[in-house]
Amino acid sequence: MSLEADRLMLRTAVEEARAGLAEGGIPIGAALYGPDGATLLGRGRNRRVQDGDPSMHAETAAFRAAGRRRSYRGTTMVTTLSPCWYCSGLVRQFGISRVVVGENRTFEGGHGWLADHGVQIVILDDPECAALMQEFIAARPDLWNEDIGL
Ligand SMILES: [Zn+2]
Repeated sequence: MSLEADRLMLRTAVEEARAGLAEGGIPIGAALYGPDGATLLGRGRNRRVQDGDPSMHAETAAFRAAGRRRSYRGTTMVTTLSPCWYCSGLVRQFGISRVVVGENRTFEGGHGWLADHGVQIVILDDPECAALMQEFIAARPDLWNEDIGL
């Protein structure tokens, strides 16, 4: 998969994050793409605030939107922020092959653990993703701490 394709997939996740922010939610977005790196299977955003559901993370929202699938081999989960343990568990549980991470400056999730278990990890270190989270955390530290369980 090319870096260009990965950056293009990240755009979808960023759109989701921005939509979440506009709804008063936590600006984390994600999308699940097919093995060709271009077919969008599902997209979603963190919906803790919107749904009152702390288990509705961006990755789980994208995963649920994709519906049922026999195999996740070759699929890519793209997310604006390094995946938490819960979402890293989802990636391993269902055998998602790749995870593209927008940034891991704000939050160091489970991507190292995923890499240790054969998941291909690409960290784009995207400045827009980092700025989005940093601005959000500065504005709503209470909500951010609630989300990461502090
Ligand atoms: Zn998560």
